[in-house]
Amino acid sequence: MYLHGTSTINERGHLQIGGCDTTDLAATFGTPLYVMDEELIRKRCREFIQAFRTSGLKFKIAYASKAFCVLAMCRLIDEEELDLDVASDGELYTALQAGFPAERIHLHGSNKTRVELEMALDAGIGCIVVDNLMELELLGSLATEKNKRVNILLRVAPGVEAHTHEYITTGNEDTKFGFDLASGAAFLAVKAVAQYPVFKLLGIHSHIGSQIFEVEGFKLAVDKLITFALQTRDETGIVFQVLNLGGGFGVRYVEGDTPLPITAYVEAITQDIFSVFTSNHYPVPEIQIEPGRSIVGDAGTTLYTVGSIKEIPGIRKYVSINGGLTDNPRPALYQAQYEAMLANRGTEMDEELVTVAGKCCESDTMIRDTRLPRANTGDLLAVSCTGAYTYSMASNYNRYRRPAVVFVKDGTAELVVRRETYLDLINCDVIPVRLRAESLPYRG
Ligand SMILES: *Cc1c(COP(=O)(O)O)cnc(C)c1O
Repeated sequence: MYLHGTSTINERGHLQIGGCDTTDLAATFGTPLYVMDEELIRKRCREFIQAFRTSGLKFKIAYASKAFCVLAMCRLIDEEELDLDVASDGELYTALQAGFPAERIHLHGSNKTRVELEMALDAGIGCIVVDNLMELELLGSLATEKNKRVNILLRVAPGVEAHTHEYITTGNEDTKFGFDLASGAAFLAVKAVAQYPVFKLLGIHSHIGSQIFEVEGFKLAVDKLITFALQTRDETGIVFQVLNLGGGFGVRYVEGDTPLPITAYVEAITQDIFSVFTSNHYPVPEIQIEPGRSIVGDAGTTLYTVGSIKEIPGIRKYVSINGGLTDNPRPALYQAQYEAMLANRGTEMDEELVTVAGKCCESDTMIRDTRLPRANTGDLLAVSCTGAYTYSMASNYNRYRRPAVVFVKDGTAELVVRRETYLDLINCDVIPVRLRAESLPYRG
């Protein structure tokens, strides 16, 4: 398993993260446990900021909170002076409860509800990224009613879609997100904005995909966006002050994943934007980006305890862990790949090929075919690079309790999410009177 951030093998032969021995973490907090390397998260934030500072362009970096959104994470992002993207009422609520300054929050979503828009307006958040005409009209009337001015970006679908090494430039106007450029919908949206004096149109937004390893996709998007910006200026006189390129910067999950260093992404993108805009005699806009995965992905490690081990001779050996689909649905959802190690036996040779299986009533394979030392029941198994889209996608399937999350740094581990209790599991349940048992162990 690749050792990210502050992860090392300590003198006891154990995986250590943030100066904390993972076997101690397991003993203190139990397993499964999400361990977040705080120093690495902060380092990623600073790499983005530093790279943009070096570029000399105006910029804004917003952490896409959907990757991992809890109160402590919002606090950390505030401390690092990044903005925060939210895409739902729940994420917005979390950010506000964390005391995150509203003016640095941006709201996304392809189907924002009236409740979400009102919540955003009432809180006075910094920017709403408008996705479609229905939303534009609803937001326009709500803001007018409330007499609130609101900064907006228009999300456009540039017809560029990027995934890791592949990017496609045709046929992907077929997306639920945003106003498409090709059909003229985006241009009509710019005109529609003008009907609402409450709107301040800052510019445009595009998000072309995720886990992107190259900059070509971003460059293709910039080409489409400048064409649109020029057309808009020619026909309406409107000049976009902000160009938001979304997130999607890749991280290394397994060998063969070859993300660029953050500095390289930012350098390539900012240089491209600078040259494209200046050569078209268009004022270089403020560049905004919204990294999620690349801020928290490699900072997370999940610790599990090995339980049953089953060998099917000549076929496969299953090593089962006390988690799975419920704490990390990504392998099931996207065939996502991960690396693992036995955290309590970090110096031993990988002797055998096994499949790490989850414990849900599904074939929830966590890792198919990975090499480990000969595992025993009770070993501590670590899966790396689980900081993004794991806790935030976790479920209570099989009525498993969602694990705890700890931040580790300089030898100290602090709980940021406590493990769910059995009571948490039934807390929202209601038994209609006619179904009630004579005596209830918990409550009525
Ligand atoms: C999900 C998302 C992001 C973050 O994507 P990552 O791949 O985690 O960097 C940024 N912007 C928008 C609009 C998104 O939907």
